[in-house]
Amino acid sequence: MEANAITKCYAENVFTIKTMRAFLSKKAYKALMETITDRSTIDPEIADEVADAMKTWALSRGATHFTHWFQPLTGATAEKHDSFIEPDREGECMMVFSGKELIQGEPDASSFPSGGLRATFEARGYTAWDPTSPAFIKEGKKGATLCIPTVFCAYNGEALDEKTPLLKSMDVLSEQICRLAKLFGIKTKGKRAYPTMGAEQEYFLVDKEFYDSRRDLLQTGRTLFGTQPSKHQQMDDHYFGAIKPRVMAFMEDLDRNLWKLGIPAKTRHNEVCPAQFEIAPIFEELNLGIDHNMLTMEILRNTAEQHYFACLLHEKPYAGVNGSGKHNNWSVVGPDGRNWLTPGDNPHENAEFLTMICALIMAIDKHAALLRATVASAGNDHRLGANEAPPAIISIFLGEQLYDVIEQLEKGKATSSKKGGVIQIGVTSLPHLPRDATDRNRTSPFAFTGNKFEFRAVGSSHNCSQANTVLNTIVAEALDEICTKIEAGVKKGEQFNDVLQVILQDIVKNHKRILFNGDNYTDDWKKEAKKRGLPNLVTTPEALEAYQTKETAKLFEKYGILSERELNSRYKTYLEKYEAEIVIEAICARKIAKNLVIPAVIRYQAELANSISTTKSVLGKVNQTETKKLLTEISKETETVLKTITELERITESSKPDKIIAVQNKLRTAVDSLESRMDRNTWPLPSYTEMMFVM
Ligand code: ADP
Ligand code: MG
Repeated sequence: MEANAITKCYAENVFTIKTMRAFLSKKAYKALMETITDRSTIDPEIADEVADAMKTWALSRGATHFTHWFQPLTGATAEKHDSFIEPDREGECMMVFSGKELIQGEPDASSFPSGGLRATFEARGYTAWDPTSPAFIKEGKKGATLCIPTVFCAYNGEALDEKTPLLKSMDVLSEQICRLAKLFGIKTKGKRAYPTMGAEQEYFLVDKEFYDSRRDLLQTGRTLFGTQPSKHQQMDDHYFGAIKPRVMAFMEDLDRNLWKLGIPAKTRHNEVCPAQFEIAPIFEELNLGIDHNMLTMEILRNTAEQHYFACLLHEKPYAGVNGSGKHNNWSVVGPDGRNWLTPGDNPHENAEFLTMICALIMAIDKHAALLRATVASAGNDHRLGANEAPPAIISIFLGEQLYDVIEQLEKGKATSSKKGGVIQIGVTSLPHLPRDATDRNRTSPFAFTGNKFEFRAVGSSHNCSQANTVLNTIVAEALDEICTKIEAGVKKGEQFNDVLQVILQDIVKNHKRILFNGDNYTDDWKKEAKKRGLPNLVTTPEALEAYQTKETAKLFEKYGILSERELNSRYKTYLEKYEAEIVIEAICARKIAKNLVIPAVIRYQAELANSISTTKSVLGKVNQTETKKLLTEISKETETVLKTITELERITESSKPDKIIAVQNKLRTAVDSLESRMDRNTWPLPSYTEMMFVM
């Protein structure tokens, strides 16, 4: 495709502002823009006009159906299509889409998890249009569907999705940032602040044929068995390596499919592990960034299929090599339109920047466990819980320079520092903090990277709404506290800068234990973190407990993000999902072992035994010690496998997840040890080597 064609195709399947302007009357366009920027409710008449315009546009792009598109607590997206068709009295049909249908849907959708929020008699769920995320068209093979981004809630308004609390948390954050901005003398009337997000998405590709013959991949998203290839990622030769032509063709299609939906796909590269890749977009306003990431995951899967690949979004598709995450890059745009995580050109802007950094330090330290809970899942336990990137201990990496600045801030303007200077709020200019500082720490779960924070603990398959909802809310809480103190001080007649200086100093003193610039993978850090009192929550059930604490309930209640009932429902839903996944994996592992592995092994064992006796009958006395040893080993492991299958069968329905995991691991060890001894040609599963290297 030539460049011109690409700019033309960009966002061609999105009801963009430009499209709106073309399809709407001036009045309706203005009203809709107001709804989008002020988040006000839309007049029903205008809604009718908008719906009609959307329909006309969608029909012109081949759409026959529309759907409300939402994000239930399953972690996936959901849709239920209705056609525009409406028969008229003359036996023909019209294409109809009303404002009512645009604004609210009643998909019922009673089978989605609600964690007990909905009893079946009150099961109705509603979807409500989110005009801040533009409608888009999904192309099918024969037609297309108009998708309306919506929130999803129960009849009484209780949230049943990931987006509702996210949008609320964005409003709360905006409110507190504007409050702070006002104190800084920035005009905020008619303005809002908003978080920005860009998600670096890691994934694996595997040939579809291998994928289809791995029941574990099909059913659980990861391989439950498999031995390491001789060569995997030891040589670091895949990372940023030349992209193989077949993968390149996939990536080219992927980018085009994303661009058509207005998703600003920017970078693509090979990741650390063979068959692992990454795609990153240009950042956008947070809720749009998340919608786009959810779509990106879907398009990754679909485009992979078109290229006879399967795209694996699981956090740990293969044991023993790199897992996949989602780096959640987060920043804030203030009411002045500036990125507030960029050190400014003058002391005034630096004060805003330092206030934000301190707010983050306080927020993350106070709510480290809660932030950890937002990324807890069975898949992600293989990363966070294991000795891998990033660890389960939440800490902040600031980089040497900013860390030094923060230390100076702690010492305050009265004392002098060895390092040559102390920060005086409102007076001191900050040193230039290079975006690509050489000491960027890849092991930190929460790293400052020049103009944003990068939360790296999100799992590759996750909807990152949870993480961002918490991030927005805890930062808003910290800013709330800071503003309250500033306001009180100023009221008493103190100087703004002096008050702020003391507040920030106190924050650093009280919360600096959360700062860590070193290697997060070491045992020393684990010990040190324990000394500092930082939580190290290794498994999902432990981590999810943070959703159950009084502090969390109080925090969410105070800012109107989620009621205690809603919070509880989430805790239950996430825990149930985790437990269900563990049980499904156990059943799947058991079946593979029993129905695929054991039959193959028994056949091979017989072959081996036959060979030993036949050889003896032909050659007479001959040394077969090693062959017999192999047979003995195989026979012994086979017994272990069978015994462990029985054990797993016995405990799966009745035991706690950690027990199930332990027995399943035992099964894996035995099966893997058989794989390494068996005839490659009769082993019933494609090997790691094939899956990672044949493409
Ligand atoms: P890397 O972290 O791999 O070095 P970059 O720093 O270029 O890569 O950016 C990674 C991601 O961070 C991209 O998706 C980018 O759009 C996003 N990003 C950059 N600036 C911001 C920002 N101000 N707010 C949110 N995300 C941002
Ligand atoms: Mg990054």
